[in-house]
Amino acid sequence: MNEVKKTDGTITKGIGGFYYVDTADGCIECRARGSFRKEGITPLVGDKVCIIYDEKTKSGAVDKIYPRRNVLLRPPVANVTQMAVVISSASPKPNLYLTDKILASAELSEVDIVICINKTDLDNGKEFFDIYERAGFCVIPISAKNNENIDLLKNKLKDNITVFAGNSGVGKSSILNCITESNAFETGEISDRVERGKHTTRHSELVLLKNGGYIIDTPGFGSFDFSLLNVENAAGLFREFEPYIYSCKFRDCSHTVEKGCAVLKAMEEGVISKSRHESYLRIFEEVKNAQNNN
Ligand code: GDP
Ligand code: ZN
Repeated sequence: MNEVKKTDGTITKGIGGFYYVDTADGCIECRARGSFRKEGITPLVGDKVCIIYDEKTKSGAVDKIYPRRNVLLRPPVANVTQMAVVISSASPKPNLYLTDKILASAELSEVDIVICINKTDLDNGKEFFDIYERAGFCVIPISAKNNENIDLLKNKLKDNITVFAGNSGVGKSSILNCITESNAFETGEISDRVERGKHTTRHSELVLLKNGGYIIDTPGFGSFDFSLLNVENAAGLFREFEPYIYSCKFRDCSHTVEKGCAVLKAMEEGVISKSRHESYLRIFEEVKNAQNNN
């Protein structure tokens, strides 16, 4: 008779109604307990689960999903602990507004953030390093081409579930290949890939790293959910504003134009970067317009 066992694990992949659960006893192929469907619950990649399984056949059923720390929409993954935001110092030069939007969305999801400035073989990217280091982020200049500082990045990935975010062409896939020491991720010019992408449905998967930690194999954009934002909390997504926002003259200061605004003063003194404040102004406007339209 086969022995039925119970254990905890992490869902690393979900395809066609099967969930692959990483456990101390290896990878177990599971169905979801029938009642999940009735309850309208779909297990997600990244879910911490309790499973009941057959030790011999390594198959079983997901019996319980532990409470989720967060749920990312694109790619759909639960319990992400960190976002690696990738920009390239050149080719393409970063769009700082989009970068700041991705960062704001990471702050909103309450995940740790590491910023990678890739392609340092083309340009050292010091200008961007300074902006984000000054804002209080962990910034790693890397070159996927020359394998530069990939070890520093690997250290940051330990014990985390990390999603990579950033625009096309910045080198996310190249970096994932460096990290996993493989060629599993398709890289190349953007124009080549758009066509192929149309015909394949991508399922997100967690890839277990040698030194511990998982990366999510489908890079995304930080998806920005404006419904969670309002004009009062938008400034909270810019971590370097924090020390100043309580010193503004007006308690309801929007940090956009007011006299006696401590954030504006810090910007004028060069403590807060102009580009970061400009991004804040644009996000603030967008949030305000969205609020007015509701
Ligand atoms: P993704 O769209 O963000 O996944 O970017 P890819 O990894 O596909 O890279 C886009 C292009 O940039 C490819 O032609 C890569 O060879 C190139 N690339 C990636 N990393 C580097 C790097 O560190 N230095 C240089 N010079 N080129 C890179
Ligand atoms: Zn202010």
